[in-house]
Amino acid sequence: MKNKSFPVAVNICGLAYKVERVPYKTVDAFTSATIVHEEQKIYVNEAISDEKARIALLHESIHGILSNGCFERENQDEILVQHLANGLYQFLKSCPDFI
Ligand SMILES: [Zn+2]
Repeated sequence: MKNKSFPVAVNICGLAYKVERVPYKTVDAFTSATIVHEEQKIYVNEAISDEKARIALLHESIHGILSNGCFERENQDEILVQHLANGLYQFLKSCPDFI
């Protein structure tokens, strides 16, 4: 993982979202990252480690996927979203050539 560059864009259900590492952005209760659907952007705090940033990007992408599918109740469940992000990160880390 160390040698891989951090993604600058991701595809969420057919929509291209730009990814930016930022020092700080006041959007909602911003901590590690936030997704702004209107801008099709995901902002990730540049102060956190690469590993935490990748999990945060997965977390926000899962929010985007759930929102796109109108799973609003699940989308509000931060514990579910974080659990999926952690699980997917560990899965992908264990087999980087999966896709
Ligand atoms: Zn969240």
